[in-house]
Amino acid sequence: MTPTSDSDNRLPDTADALLAQVPTGLWIGGGPCAASDGAVFDVLNPATGIPLVSVASASVDDAVRAVDSAAAAAAEWEATAPRTRGEILRAAFESIIARRDDFALLMTLEMGKTLAESQGEVTYGAEFFRWFSEEAARINGRVTTAPAGNGQIVVTKEPVGICLAVTPWNFPLAMATRKIGPALAAGCTMIVKPAEDTPLTTMLLAKVLSEAGVPPGVLTVLPTLRAPEVVAALMADERLRKVSFTGSTQVGKILLGQAADNVLRTSMELGGNAPFIVFDDADLDAAVDGAIAAKLRNGGEACTAANRILVQNGVRAEFTERLTERIAATAVGPGWAESSQLGPMINARQRDRIAALVDDAVAQGAKVHTGGDRLPGGGFFYAPTVIDQIAPGSDILVEEIFGPVAAVQGFDTEDDAIRIANHTAYGLAAYFYSTDLARVQRVSRRLQAGLVGVNRGVISDPAAPFGGIKQSGLGSEGGSEGIGEYLNTKYIALPPTQ
Ligand code: NAD
Repeated sequence: MTPTSDSDNRLPDTADALLAQVPTGLWIGGGPCAASDGAVFDVLNPATGIPLVSVASASVDDAVRAVDSAAAAAAEWEATAPRTRGEILRAAFESIIARRDDFALLMTLEMGKTLAESQGEVTYGAEFFRWFSEEAARINGRVTTAPAGNGQIVVTKEPVGICLAVTPWNFPLAMATRKIGPALAAGCTMIVKPAEDTPLTTMLLAKVLSEAGVPPGVLTVLPTLRAPEVVAALMADERLRKVSFTGSTQVGKILLGQAADNVLRTSMELGGNAPFIVFDDADLDAAVDGAIAAKLRNGGEACTAANRILVQNGVRAEFTERLTERIAATAVGPGWAESSQLGPMINARQRDRIAALVDDAVAQGAKVHTGGDRLPGGGFFYAPTVIDQIAPGSDILVEEIFGPVAAVQGFDTEDDAIRIANHTAYGLAAYFYSTDLARVQRVSRRLQAGLVGVNRGVISDPAAPFGGIKQSGLGSEGGSEGIGEYLNTKYIALPPTQ
């Protein structure tokens, strides 16, 4: 671990010019505008705790304006040729890639992750637009003869209508493109409510989409510090037909309750508590590399992050020693500094939540191998940490850590590993390392998770369906499944052909 220095803390020379290009108003009707009551809020740089810019904070009146604008644009966008919708998304993909450095720096400034991580997210996030630009022209129904021969069954797909996306702060670009891409490809209009910590990336994205040819009203962006009121007002509007949410299970449950009133279509990508299992037949070098990726990717602030590292007792001591060596050597600093391998946490609240989980585990007897504390300075840094000998039932094993803390537990048998892994209300990602093919097949089937990584620590891919089971969510994003979340199925009964 390396402490930050004053020279590292200076923003890159290009930061001011970049921030000046980012729209800071609400994006309604194809351009930025002030909130109806003029309210604004500051977006902080988590590496310094200092505001970057202030942006408009949408009110309940603005929510109504947003739905008016989305409704006015809906019929024409639905009638736009799928190929044209796809070409607009493809142009936006090219444009994000051309502005790769801008998007990467903007995410690093508002979210804190390292520039290398942000560059990776630009590739990942932009790819949803390329993928769904291709899907737009492949929305297929079917025609069959009724089995009794007395009619034709015609099945068509239609856009669900006006959609709301509520996104989290941890992947500011990708969580927006993963929802906007399929919605626009399907012919829906969309209102995005970005996380209050990271609205800037979505604002720049709105500008890029507009320049790529998205007509006014098809995409609306409502940054706000008043998320509960504004989202509730949007959900209560009968013109809205769908909500797609990525965030905590707690907020997802609130939105599911609100969605019930107007019987909205819902997609829910919620929290996780991923097990990362290392069997004693694993390739240990690969398992350590995978654990580093699954734990430290995005600073540990990923819903797919390895939350509980389960290691078979025969290899536990060696694995823990190697993992500790790697994690202790991780350089911490502002995301834009070339030397940094780990940036700050998103805000003081999240950093303190992580500290409380570790402190509680230690108070119950857990052993700290490295880290275990906040780092000094104005930013929201937490030391990369390894702990083990954790008392069963400790909060750190039950809750999502969402930070760079590896919590290691031992187990004896495969059955024990499966039992511990599945003993959670969540079911998003699970990982395991084994070189035994029969075990790979068995364990893949028995793990209760929507995503299973076998001998790899990173699994997200825009071409694969991403979604959790149990309290981790409903529906899939990405893959050929993703666009189906934005389409209704219609059955048209025709007489038999003469
Ligand atoms: P969060 O639930 O606090 O916030 C997510 C979004 O919901 C934000 O835009 C926020 O403003 C909004 N929000 C908060 N309270 C609301 C309310 N009462 N009504 C309406 N909207 C409200 O989550 P977060 O801290 O931003 O993100 C971290 C969480 O997201 C973690 O639990 C993580 O696992 C999850 N996540 C899941 C996935 C996935 O695909 N499953 C991906 C990324 C993050």
